[in-house]
Amino acid sequence: MGKGTLIKGLLERVPGIHVAVSATTRPPRPGEVDGRDYHFLSPEEFERRVRAGEFAEHAVYAGNRYGTLRSELDRPARAVLLEIDVQGARQIHGQRPDALLVFIAPPSLDELERRLRRRGADSEEQIAKRLAAAREELAARDEFAHVIVNDDAERALAELERLVGKIVAR
Ligand code: 5GP
Repeated sequence: MGKGTLIKGLLERVPGIHVAVSATTRPPRPGEVDGRDYHFLSPEEFERRVRAGEFAEHAVYAGNRYGTLRSELDRPARAVLLEIDVQGARQIHGQRPDALLVFIAPPSLDELERRLRRRGADSEEQIAKRLAAAREELAARDEFAHVIVNDDAERALAELERLVGKIVAR
Protein backbone atom coordinates (compact mmCIF):
# COMPACT_ATOMS: atom_id res chain seq x y z
CA MET A 1 0.00 0.00 0.00
CA GLY A 2 1.08 3.57 -0.52
CA LYS A 3 2.02 6.24 2.00
CA GLY A 4 -1.51 7.64 2.03
CA THR A 5 -3.01 4.35 3.19
CA LEU A 6 -0.31 3.99 5.83
CA ILE A 7 -1.14 7.43 7.27
CA LYS A 8 -4.85 6.68 7.20
CA GLY A 9 -4.20 3.54 9.23
CA LEU A 10 -2.09 5.52 11.70
CA LEU A 11 -4.85 8.06 12.28
CA GLU A 12 -7.29 5.29 13.11
CA ARG A 13 -4.92 3.87 15.72
CA VAL A 14 -3.43 7.00 17.30
CA PRO A 15 -5.97 9.71 18.15
CA GLY A 16 -5.24 13.43 18.33
CA ILE A 17 -3.04 13.81 15.26
CA HIS A 18 -3.59 16.67 12.84
CA VAL A 19 -2.43 15.96 9.29
CA ALA A 20 -1.16 19.20 7.78
CA VAL A 21 -2.82 20.13 4.50
CA SER A 22 0.02 21.10 2.16
CA ALA A 23 -0.12 23.65 -0.61
CA THR A 24 0.87 22.65 -4.12
CA THR A 25 0.94 23.96 -7.68
CA ARG A 26 0.19 20.55 -9.17
CA PRO A 27 -3.30 20.09 -10.58
CA PRO A 28 -5.80 18.09 -8.49
CA ARG A 29 -6.24 14.40 -9.30
CA PRO A 30 -9.76 13.08 -9.83
CA GLY A 31 -11.43 12.90 -6.41
CA GLU A 32 -9.05 15.31 -4.67
CA VAL A 33 -10.74 18.19 -2.86
CA ASP A 34 -9.23 21.66 -2.45
CA GLY A 35 -8.62 22.45 1.22
CA ARG A 36 -8.88 18.79 2.25
CA ASP A 37 -6.22 16.98 0.20
CA TYR A 38 -4.17 20.06 -0.68
CA HIS A 39 -4.51 23.78 -0.99
CA PHE A 40 -4.27 23.92 -4.77
CA LEU A 41 -2.57 27.20 -5.68
CA SER A 42 -1.58 28.82 -8.95
CA PRO A 43 2.19 29.28 -9.38
CA GLU A 44 1.65 33.03 -8.87
CA GLU A 45 -0.26 32.58 -5.62
CA PHE A 46 2.29 30.05 -4.35
CA GLU A 47 5.13 32.47 -5.07
CA ARG A 48 3.26 35.32 -3.40
CA ARG A 49 2.90 33.28 -0.23
CA VAL A 50 6.57 32.28 -0.31
CA ARG A 51 7.50 35.95 -0.46
CA ALA A 52 5.08 36.77 2.34
CA GLY A 53 6.90 34.22 4.52
CA GLU A 54 3.81 32.05 4.92
CA PHE A 55 5.61 28.73 4.43
CA ALA A 56 7.47 26.81 7.13
CA GLU A 57 9.13 24.88 4.30
CA HIS A 58 8.71 24.48 0.58
CA ALA A 59 10.30 22.51 -2.23
CA VAL A 60 10.02 21.52 -5.88
CA TYR A 61 9.09 17.87 -6.42
CA ALA A 62 8.79 16.31 -9.90
CA GLY A 63 8.35 19.75 -11.45
CA ASN A 64 5.69 21.10 -9.07
CA ARG A 65 5.96 23.22 -5.92
CA TYR A 66 4.84 21.91 -2.53
CA GLY A 67 4.93 23.55 0.87
CA THR A 68 3.69 23.50 4.45
CA LEU A 69 1.97 26.69 5.58
CA ARG A 70 3.08 27.91 9.02
CA SER A 71 -0.57 28.09 10.06
CA GLU A 72 -0.74 24.27 9.78
CA LEU A 73 1.95 23.83 12.43
CA ASP A 74 0.10 25.77 15.09
CA ARG A 75 -2.92 23.48 15.25
CA PRO A 76 -4.20 22.52 18.67
CA ALA A 77 -3.39 18.83 18.34
CA ARG A 78 -1.28 16.32 20.24
CA ALA A 79 0.90 16.05 17.16
CA VAL A 80 1.00 17.50 13.66
CA LEU A 81 1.95 15.11 10.89
CA LEU A 82 3.65 16.39 7.73
CA GLU A 83 3.81 14.11 4.72
CA ILE A 84 6.62 15.88 2.86
CA ASP A 85 9.66 15.16 0.75
CA VAL A 86 13.30 14.99 1.87
CA GLN A 87 14.06 18.64 1.07
CA GLY A 88 11.14 19.74 3.21
CA ALA A 89 12.13 17.38 6.03
CA ARG A 90 15.60 18.95 6.14
CA GLN A 91 14.08 22.42 6.47
CA ILE A 92 11.71 21.34 9.24
CA HIS A 93 14.54 19.58 11.06
CA GLY A 94 16.53 22.85 11.00
CA GLN A 95 13.69 24.74 12.68
CA ARG A 96 12.29 22.02 14.92
CA PRO A 97 15.13 19.75 16.03
CA ASP A 98 12.64 17.86 18.22
CA ALA A 99 10.59 16.79 15.18
CA LEU A 100 10.33 13.04 14.68
CA LEU A 101 11.64 12.36 11.16
CA VAL A 102 10.59 9.07 9.61
CA PHE A 103 11.66 8.03 6.12
CA ILE A 104 9.00 5.87 4.48
CA ALA A 105 10.77 3.85 1.79
CA PRO A 106 9.09 1.98 -1.06
CA PRO A 107 10.01 -1.73 -1.15
CA SER A 108 12.01 -1.03 -4.33
CA LEU A 109 12.01 1.39 -7.24
CA ASP A 110 10.45 -1.33 -9.43
CA GLU A 111 7.59 -1.72 -6.97
CA LEU A 112 7.17 2.07 -6.77
CA GLU A 113 6.91 2.19 -10.56
CA ARG A 114 4.25 -0.54 -10.48
CA ARG A 115 2.29 1.41 -7.84
CA LEU A 116 2.45 4.63 -9.86
CA ARG A 117 1.25 2.82 -12.98
CA ARG A 118 -1.53 1.03 -11.11
CA ARG A 119 -2.76 4.38 -9.77
CA GLY A 120 -3.01 5.55 -13.37
CA ALA A 121 -2.91 9.24 -12.44
CA ASP A 122 0.43 10.23 -13.93
CA SER A 123 1.74 10.80 -17.46
CA GLU A 124 4.86 8.95 -18.60
CA GLU A 125 6.79 12.17 -18.04
CA GLN A 126 5.47 12.48 -14.48
CA ILE A 127 6.29 8.83 -13.76
CA ALA A 128 9.85 9.35 -14.98
CA LYS A 129 10.24 12.50 -12.86
CA ARG A 130 8.79 10.80 -9.78
CA LEU A 131 11.08 7.78 -10.14
CA ALA A 132 14.10 10.08 -10.51
CA ALA A 133 13.01 11.99 -7.40
CA ALA A 134 12.48 8.74 -5.48
CA ARG A 135 15.97 7.55 -6.43
CA GLU A 136 17.45 10.77 -5.07
CA GLU A 137 15.39 10.55 -1.91
CA LEU A 138 16.45 6.96 -1.27
CA ALA A 139 20.07 8.10 -1.40
CA ALA A 140 19.29 10.40 1.55
CA ARG A 141 17.63 7.80 3.79
CA ASP A 142 20.64 7.60 6.12
CA GLU A 143 19.96 11.19 7.21
CA PHE A 144 16.85 9.90 8.98
CA ALA A 145 16.86 8.40 12.44
CA HIS A 146 14.01 6.09 11.45
CA VAL A 147 13.42 4.26 8.18
CA ILE A 148 10.29 2.21 7.59
CA VAL A 149 10.23 0.04 4.48
CA ASN A 150 6.69 0.01 3.18
CA ASP A 151 6.60 -3.59 1.95
CA ASP A 152 4.40 -5.40 4.44
CA ALA A 153 1.46 -3.07 5.17
CA GLU A 154 0.68 -4.38 8.66
CA ARG A 155 4.30 -4.40 9.85
CA ALA A 156 4.97 -0.90 8.44
CA LEU A 157 1.88 0.43 10.19
CA ALA A 158 2.85 -1.21 13.50
CA GLU A 159 6.33 0.38 13.32
CA LEU A 160 4.91 3.81 12.56
CA GLU A 161 2.33 3.46 15.33
CA ARG A 162 5.07 2.61 17.85
CA LEU A 163 7.22 5.63 16.89
CA VAL A 164 4.35 8.12 16.81
CA GLY A 165 2.76 6.65 19.93
CA LYS A 166 5.89 7.60 21.86
CA ILE A 167 5.73 11.26 20.89
CA VAL A 168 2.04 11.78 21.50
CA ALA A 169 2.55 10.31 24.97
CA ARG A 170 5.46 12.61 25.85
P1 5GP B 1 1.85 14.01 -4.64
O1 5GP B 1 1.92 14.88 -5.85
O2 5GP B 1 1.97 12.56 -5.01
O3 5GP B 1 0.64 14.29 -3.79
O4 5GP B 1 3.11 14.35 -3.74
C1 5GP B 1 4.40 14.24 -4.29
C2 5GP B 1 5.45 14.43 -3.24
O5 5GP B 1 5.35 15.72 -2.66
C3 5GP B 1 5.39 13.43 -2.09
O6 5GP B 1 6.64 12.83 -1.98
C4 5GP B 1 5.08 14.26 -0.89
O7 5GP B 1 5.75 13.78 0.24
C5 5GP B 1 5.62 15.62 -1.29
N1 5GP B 1 4.92 16.69 -0.57
C6 5GP B 1 3.59 16.77 -0.35
N2 5GP B 1 3.31 17.88 0.36
C7 5GP B 1 4.50 18.49 0.62
C8 5GP B 1 4.86 19.68 1.33
O8 5GP B 1 4.05 20.38 1.92
N3 5GP B 1 6.19 19.98 1.36
C9 5GP B 1 7.13 19.21 0.75
N4 5GP B 1 8.40 19.58 0.85
N5 5GP B 1 6.82 18.10 0.07
C10 5GP B 1 5.52 17.73 0.01
